[in-house]
Amino acid sequence: MNEIILCKYGEIALKGLNKSTFESMMVQSIKRRLRNCGQFRITKAQSTLYIEPLNEDCDVDEMVDKLSKIFGIVKICRCCILEKDMNEILTKSLGYIEDEMETARTFKVDAKRSDKKFPLKSPEICREMGGAILERFPHLKVDVHNPDVTVTVEIREQKAYVHAGQIDGAGGIPVGSSGKAMLLLSGGIDSPVAGYMMARRGAVIDAIHFEAPPYTSERAKMKVEKLAKLMTAYCGDIKFHCVPFTEIQETLRDNCPEELFTILMRRLMMEIAQRIAQAEDVQALVTGESLGQVASQTMYAMVCTDAACRMPVFRPCVGMDKSEIVEIARKINTFETSILPYEDCCTVFTPKHPKTRPTVEEVEAAQSSYDFEPLLQKAVSETQSYIIKND
Ligand code: ATP
Ligand code: MG
Repeated sequence: MNEIILCKYGEIALKGLNKSTFESMMVQSIKRRLRNCGQFRITKAQSTLYIEPLNEDCDVDEMVDKLSKIFGIVKICRCCILEKDMNEILTKSLGYIEDEMETARTFKVDAKRSDKKFPLKSPEICREMGGAILERFPHLKVDVHNPDVTVTVEIREQKAYVHAGQIDGAGGIPVGSSGKAMLLLSGGIDSPVAGYMMARRGAVIDAIHFEAPPYTSERAKMKVEKLAKLMTAYCGDIKFHCVPFTEIQETLRDNCPEELFTILMRRLMMEIAQRIAQAEDVQALVTGESLGQVASQTMYAMVCTDAACRMPVFRPCVGMDKSEIVEIARKINTFETSILPYEDCCTVFTPKHPKTRPTVEEVEAAQSSYDFEPLLQKAVSETQSYIIKND
C-alpha cells in the first residue's frame, strides 16, 4: 500500500514572517539527509511537510529513522494513502493499522477534515471508523481520554490518510537558522552532546580537534572522527579541523608553572579555535564543559579561559550532571564510542595538583613569559580541514 510520511513542526510554525525561511531550511535539510533514500516528493500545508516516496526503491523505515533526527520536526506520522471514499477508507486502512491495534487495549479515532466538501463530517467519520475497528478487533475498547492508540483519519485536498500513532521528532529548530559554531571536540562524552544541543537550536557545527602525536595515537584521532560522523546524523555534514598541538604542549610543559599547565593549554586551544573560527565565518565557540566537573571547569578556571576569548563561548552542558549528559550521549548514539579507552591531548602532561582557583592576572603573566605567537601561527597553518559527510 502506498505510504506518505507527515512531519509536523512546532516552534517554527510560530515564527511569523520568518516561517517560510524556516520551512525552506527544513525542506533543504530533508532533501540532503534523505538523498540516498530513493526518489520522493515534499509538499507543505498547515505546518506539516508531506514526504511521499515515489518509487519502490524508497526504504520508508530508513526515511523515518533519518527524519526523526532532523531538527525542527516535532512529530512524525507514517500513513497509508487512500482515495477519499469512506468505503475505501474503512476496508483498506484496517490492515495497515493492524499491528498497532493488535497490541493495544484501548483506542480512539480522531478525524481531521480539511476538505470541507467531504460528505461526512468529522464526528461521523469517527463513528464509522470506530465501528469498523471494533468489529475487526473485538478485544479493543474505546477510551477517548487516555487511549493506547489514536487512529487518525485525515481528509486532505487530494487524498485521505490514515495512521495509528505518531513518533516523536528531534524537536528544536532547523540547522542553519541560528548561525555557525565551532565545537571543541575531544574524544570524551561531553563535547558531542554539547554539539548536538547547539545544532538542536539551529547552529551549523564545525568541529575542531587538538591532537598531540606521538602522545596521542592515530586511533585516538579516528575515534574523534567517528564521533563527528555519528553527530552528522543530527547536525548534517561537519567541517572538521584537526590541529597539531604537540609542540605547544611541550613548550608549555618546559616553560610554564606546572599547576597552571591545564588552564594555559585551554587558553591556547581557545586562541587557535578562534583564529580558525574567524577564517570560517563562525560566530561562537562551543565546549562540553560542565561546572565543577574537573579542576579546569571551576568558575575561576572558566573565567581565565574566557579572558582569552574574543567571541562568545557556549557551554550547553554547564548546568548538567554527568548522568544527564550520559543519557543524551546514549540517545544520540555517541556514548559507546566516547568510552573507548584512547588518550586525549588534555590528559598528556597533566599536573598532579592543578590550580582550581587561578586568577586572570597570574595566568596572563605566566602566558606572556613566553612568546607563543610563532607556535600558534604554525599550528593554525598546519591544521588539516576536511568535511565529514552524513551518509
Ligand atoms: P569531554 O567529555 O567532552 O572530553 P571532559 O569532561 O573530558 O569533556 P576536558 O577534557 O576537561 O573535559 O575538556 C573540556 C572540554 O574541552 C571538552 O568538552 C572539549 O570541548 C574541549 N576539549 C578537550 N580536549 C580537547 C581536544 N583534544 N580537542 C578539542 N577540544 C577538546
Ligand atoms: Mg575529555
